[in-house]
Amino acid sequence: MSKNLAQKLIESHLVDGKMEVGETIGLRIDQTLTQDATGTIVMLEFEATGLDRVRTKLSAQYVDHNLLQEDYKNPDDHIFLRTASQKFGLWYSAPGTGVSHPVHMERFGIPGHTLLGSDSHTPAGGSLGMLAIGAGGLEAAMAMAGEPYHIKMPKIWGVKLTGKLPEWVSAKDIILEMLRRHNVEGGIGKIIEYYGPGVDELSAMDRHVIANMGAELGATTTVFPSDQEVKRFLKSQGREADWVELRADEGCSYDEHETINLSELVPLIAYPSSPGNVVPVSEVAGREIFQSYIGSSANPGIRDFVIPALILDGEKIHERVSLDINPSTRQVLIYLTVNSYLSKLISAGARIHQAGCNGCIGMGQAPATGRISLRTTPRNFPGRSGTKEDSVYLCSPETAAASALTGVITDPRTLKKKYPQFREPSEIIISKTGLLPPLADTSKIVIEKGPNIQPLPKFESLPNAITGPALLKLGNDISTDEILPAGARVLPLRSNIPAISKYTYYQIDEKFYERALPYQKTGFFVVAGENYGQGSSREHAVIAPKYLGLCAILAKGYARIHRENLINFGILSLVFENMDDYDTIDQEDILEMPSVKKELEQNSAFTVVNQTKNLTYKMLCPLNSKEVQMILTGGRINFIKHKTQ
Ligand code: SF4
Repeated sequence: MSKNLAQKLIESHLVDGKMEVGETIGLRIDQTLTQDATGTIVMLEFEATGLDRVRTKLSAQYVDHNLLQEDYKNPDDHIFLRTASQKFGLWYSAPGTGVSHPVHMERFGIPGHTLLGSDSHTPAGGSLGMLAIGAGGLEAAMAMAGEPYHIKMPKIWGVKLTGKLPEWVSAKDIILEMLRRHNVEGGIGKIIEYYGPGVDELSAMDRHVIANMGAELGATTTVFPSDQEVKRFLKSQGREADWVELRADEGCSYDEHETINLSELVPLIAYPSSPGNVVPVSEVAGREIFQSYIGSSANPGIRDFVIPALILDGEKIHERVSLDINPSTRQVLIYLTVNSYLSKLISAGARIHQAGCNGCIGMGQAPATGRISLRTTPRNFPGRSGTKEDSVYLCSPETAAASALTGVITDPRTLKKKYPQFREPSEIIISKTGLLPPLADTSKIVIEKGPNIQPLPKFESLPNAITGPALLKLGNDISTDEILPAGARVLPLRSNIPAISKYTYYQIDEKFYERALPYQKTGFFVVAGENYGQGSSREHAVIAPKYLGLCAILAKGYARIHRENLINFGILSLVFENMDDYDTIDQEDILEMPSVKKELEQNSAFTVVNQTKNLTYKMLCPLNSKEVQMILTGGRINFIKHKTQ
């Protein structure tokens, strides 16, 4: 029977389960990717397994998020991650080497391999024909330990690309078009597979842009074929031997299907504060901007910097604008320097930053209050930029450069300029600087833990009954940035749960920590709408609320990775059987789950009594038997310990 590419990738790594939509399947994981913001906890979790070395074909630990060194905390983490990587047999990517996803694509990505990453944009690896999935840190630690990764078999969504991109329209506009059509929930429970003649028009790095931001659709992952373009890319990286051809069989079918005619696309933009708020740039043109930010894993290719350099060549940016250039990798930075593109940007007035995530995750470059920041990054969730009342728009490098020039949001087609022609080069200076390979003999390596590295808190097993307030009532699409923010103030606390918990739900309620403390021992609830926990994979958005006493969430729906994280840390992710019940709960209502443990043991529906309103709700929480045990014992770490005792 003919198969699509996603089915082939899954089948070649299937260790248990049936490939039927909704069935739980186990996948063998070839490679893992961890970054520093999630990686310190991953390393502590891996250490807790007692294993001396990772069991994967390749694991890489990147330092790309926490690059600011305001005090000892981030450098402490860097040393911890380097020594832990050397101890456990991982590659280590030092600060300044670049953002994990493009560096992984340059150095390690292999068509046909599986990649599990504790970063939600790991699907970017799909640009090379990998099955690359973002997950929580504990899932990554387990994959490093050789455990299969379990998910529900997703639907496969075939997207046929036809036509050819018009001038001034680029890969970012393709993924923004997908978001315009389907919003931030459109990909939940699906793998997006791109195919068709339009794919031939896209470079491997263009495909990275699209696969990366498939995460914004909520998709499990995105896959592209491994074709001649992937071969060219790998050859340019000195890795042609890693190439294999991979594509869907002729006549294969998809669970869902759609077509995008590239020729019909126009420059698009996502207005604040969701990547799903997409409109043509022309609709918001003329709004005054404060900042134009180019970089991140959502536009990491050489062309994403060269095109703005050529647009700005010989010109000066508007005096009001801060044009911030954030090279994605050291290798890209070397190319831009050697070929004088960097000097064109600098001469035009750009500010150059180091290779890394930087302002994308609020580590510097925060915009001024109430001013528009135009960014080529993938996310514009409230406050992610580091400024609480921010106004971030997401766009292509073409739109960002055109707007830097004029000082207002500008449809790049209206510039009186010729569209610069540039394709990703096939010959580059390959840089491996900053990448430390795994050591054969690790016996002399000592893992160095500075004072910023605190042990994981211990969590109790589930009590028989829970009573507590609905301490927060939230709407739809609450992101992990809103649950536990990033940024220069909070990220350095990633290895210290008691300290970071002070910022739990801080973007929503600055007093939440104080309000939660009285319930730390007895527990509290949170009520939410659809797609709770979208965005970043950070498991701190689960561990910190858990540390404060969160025992169950009552929601209309969850983002996939966040729900996995909730289960891993023993929090019930309940779904309303009757969605109208959501409207009857107010913040501070006292809720009770009188038989929670018994109901979980029976894996039945749950009863929640609203004591304040004298109402009873039926809640669902479909779990497999292992997940039931994980929640009963207080989370996956306790579960593993119980099993091995
Ligand atoms: S989305 Fe931003 S913070 Fe996340 S990996 Fe990419 S560049 Fe880094």
